[in-house]
Amino acid sequence: MSPNESETKPDPQAATGEAGAPPSEEGAAQHEALYDRFAERVREIFDAGQEKSKEAMEKAMEAAREQLSAAGEFSAEQGEVFKRFMNRDLEQTARDMRAVSKEAKERLNPSRLGAGALSSMSRLLEAAGSALQSLSRKAEDALRYSTGDITTAGTLTCTHCGQEVQLKRTAKIPPCPKCHGTEFRKGY
Ligand SMILES: [Zn+2]
Repeated sequence: MSPNESETKPDPQAATGEAGAPPSEEGAAQHEALYDRFAERVREIFDAGQEKSKEAMEKAMEAAREQLSAAGEFSAEQGEVFKRFMNRDLEQTARDMRAVSKEAKERLNPSRLGAGALSSMSRLLEAAGSALQSLSRKAEDALRYSTGDITTAGTLTCTHCGQEVQLKRTAKIPPCPKCHGTEFRKGY
């Protein structure tokens, strides 16, 4: 009867409740650490073997995937995704190591990289010597990186607006801070 009914009416929007845990900051950090472990495991297996070919590298990657999978660290599916990420990062790192300036080569020097997957991969490529020079498919074909992928430290450049995003360590790629683009090229 009175016009003050709005005071007691429950707000239907209020029922949606808490947003809950953020989608997974923690999950992302765990994935990043796991990727570092995966890369280091591949390097160890590759190092221990006699053969330093591309095939040996692939075998090392598969063995590392099986080991971490058997240890319950990740699912078979996730292991396959990591292999794909690592193949791409290896190829990008190999390109950078042979194509870039002396200054950038010095930056990629394993002794200067500290821990993490980039360090593992640089050491791995160094140990492989010329055997992995042919990692690239087409040298001019820029490798593509997408928001949500995990990758090693380096500089990403948004293919849409040219904004650079620096990754200081292994990380899950964020959207472009400037245009929210989701596709990048990478270099060091
Ligand atoms: Zn952008």
